[in-house]
Amino acid sequence: MHDHLKSLLLDALNACTPRIAAADLLDDDTENARLDPCADENEYASRVTEMGIALCLKARMRERRAQLEHALKRLEARDYGVCDECGEDIALPRLLANPAATLCVHCQADREYGRGHGHAQGQQLRCA
Ligand SMILES: [Zn+2]
Repeated sequence: MHDHLKSLLLDALNACTPRIAAADLLDDDTENARLDPCADENEYASRVTEMGIALCLKARMRERRAQLEHALKRLEARDYGVCDECGEDIALPRLLANPAATLCVHCQADREYGRGHGHAQGQQLRCA
C-alpha cells in the first residue's frame, strides 16, 4: 500500500512542478508589465489583478509541493499516515483522497472549526 501511496504522491508532485515553473515565467512577464510606462489605468489594473492571482496560485502550489515532499519524507521514514495531533493512524481512504494529509479526520475537523490551536486556520477558511 505504501508503494501505491508513494506513486500517488509522486504523481501529484510531478503535476504541480510544471505549474510552479509556469507561474515563475508569468512572474517575469508581470514584472516587465509593471515597468511599462505606456500601460493605461485599466490595463494596469487588470495586470495588477493578474499578478495577484498568479502570486496566489504560485503560493498555493509551493505550499502543496512542500506538503507533498513532507509526506514523501515521512513515507520513507515509515512515519507516514499518523496524525500530527493525536498520533492515531489516519484512515486509508483519507490518505488515498489526500496523500499529503497530516491530520486524522477528527483533528482536521477540530482545526477547521477553529477550536484549540487551529483558530487562525479557521479564520482563514471563513475568509476564503
Ligand atoms: Zn488526530
